[in-house]
Amino acid sequence: MENNTESNGVKATGSFINNFINEDLSGHTQDIVTRFPPEPNGYLHIGHAKSICLNFGLAKEYGGKCNLRFDDTNPAKEDTEFVESIKEDIKWLGFDWEDRLYYASSYFDKMYEYAVRLIKKGKAFVCDMSADEVREARGDLKSPGKESPYRNRSIEENLEIFERMKNGEFADGEKTLRAKIDMSSPNINMRDPVIYRIAHMTHHATGDKWCIYPMYDYAHPVEDAIEGVTHSICTMEFEDHRPLYDWVINELDFEVKPRQIEFAKLNLSNTIMGKRFLRNLVETGQVDGWDDPRLITLSGIRRRGYTPESIRAFCDMIGVSKANSTVDTAQLEYCIREDLKPKTKVVMAVLDPIKLIIDNYPEDMTEMLEIENHPDNETLGKRRVSFSRELWIERADFEEIPPKKYFRLTPGMEVRLKGAYFVTCVGCDKDDNGNVTAVHATYDPATKSGLNFTERKVKGTIHWVDCKTAVPAQVNLYESLVVPDENGELVLNPNSRTVMSAYVESCLKEAEKTERFQFMRNGYFIADSKHHTKEDPVFDRIVSLKSSFRPEKGN
Ligand code: ATP
Ligand code: MG
Repeated sequence: MENNTESNGVKATGSFINNFINEDLSGHTQDIVTRFPPEPNGYLHIGHAKSICLNFGLAKEYGGKCNLRFDDTNPAKEDTEFVESIKEDIKWLGFDWEDRLYYASSYFDKMYEYAVRLIKKGKAFVCDMSADEVREARGDLKSPGKESPYRNRSIEENLEIFERMKNGEFADGEKTLRAKIDMSSPNINMRDPVIYRIAHMTHHATGDKWCIYPMYDYAHPVEDAIEGVTHSICTMEFEDHRPLYDWVINELDFEVKPRQIEFAKLNLSNTIMGKRFLRNLVETGQVDGWDDPRLITLSGIRRRGYTPESIRAFCDMIGVSKANSTVDTAQLEYCIREDLKPKTKVVMAVLDPIKLIIDNYPEDMTEMLEIENHPDNETLGKRRVSFSRELWIERADFEEIPPKKYFRLTPGMEVRLKGAYFVTCVGCDKDDNGNVTAVHATYDPATKSGLNFTERKVKGTIHWVDCKTAVPAQVNLYESLVVPDENGELVLNPNSRTVMSAYVESCLKEAEKTERFQFMRNGYFIADSKHHTKEDPVFDRIVSLKSSFRPEKGN
């Protein structure tokens, strides 16, 4: 079970967002309300985790509330599978929207009323121009736009046609409702933006009740205001839309005036995050579903073995800013290692096995050795591991002709078998093609672990699994799903998954689905939440042990 009780979220403390909120709070008390507003058209990814940690984290920091609002104003693509997965992911991350689960589509009536109010104020008009004509007349950064010939329709006429739009009297695209702002504004978003469009489409929640749908830039501030959101935190691409956001809020005289604050999206090195990309991979079968352990969807990294604590720590560490940047994926890996290191049992698993035969060890003998489960954490206890004449070791732990500084098995070299004895390599067997089929060694009974043997020292310690009790297991190793090609473009990595036929210690027979282990020298692993069984164990590598990332001092 994950421990979700001490959720921290992004420590935005001291960030520019805090400064804004503190500024808004100065002189009066106000309950802070934020929201996380996903569009239910895909599964959440690690970028969304940043937004979730930020929104729920700020609410918590200020003793306020954070709503979960499904932004389902677009009738095209919502799906209940996505709604359910999003709820599950947020809970897993350790956050709680309590009874504040909202759907933007449930505000359609109010949004319509507010649009009528804008018309009555002379602040919105029905336009008959086509989408192309509107685009044409919009102008550009250098030249102002041209006013629509329908801009000066009377309020009565606008009210009447808008109602007929709602009643389905016009075809898609035939008319739009536009805000009447300023066609010469230097900000193109303010040049009479479309706020309602006609779309004869069935909506998953409202069915065929509506054939006009609000545009995002109008809908979002209205949704925020209806919910009493005080701080509407979004990503940088909406910065230029903020004047329009404010215009909607001010024209509609909402009591609570939400403030939009933008921050830079999370980008990760060698990662493509967009929902559209992820969806395509899933739909074309290039990955095994949304929870493929190679995906940076939250369900993917959960299955991969990441903990909610590690994701929150990551979001905390990267902080928030307005400057776009790319975070090194090694930083995410660092966070999961740091989380698992002190609390995860260390056991032995041989991923690429070759046999080690200890020539001077009696054939029918088996010893039970006691090995600690963690080098620094005694509370994890000890376990008994069987040892006998034939062991599995990693193929890479033997070299007939060793490279320089090779301190593992090579003829004449003595190494320590973890928790057991010193063994000296005496040679190997080969098949007709010259491939090594088994390694031979002799052991020195005086060097048994625990006897405090001090006469000789060895440089290398290798792990092993007793052939008599070894458990065969499938072990999946992962690499980045996409890698840069020769032009620096990210393309699918053909080696993103390697399946190994491994031998693991017999204690792993008892491993439960989602149980995590460190496989000595091989990394952190999790018993696969889908395919692992006690009869056919399957382990996924969460992360290797080596790190290319060092946190800056102070982190
Ligand atoms: P994508 O670009 O992956 O399709 P989206 O922004 O369309 O994502 P939404 O469901 O609209 O997905 O996003 C919900 C919230 O998550 C929004 O507030 C959005 O700004 C935020 N968000 C999305 N991607 C990131 C990211 N990479 N970093 C931080 N926040 C993000
Ligand atoms: Mg979106």
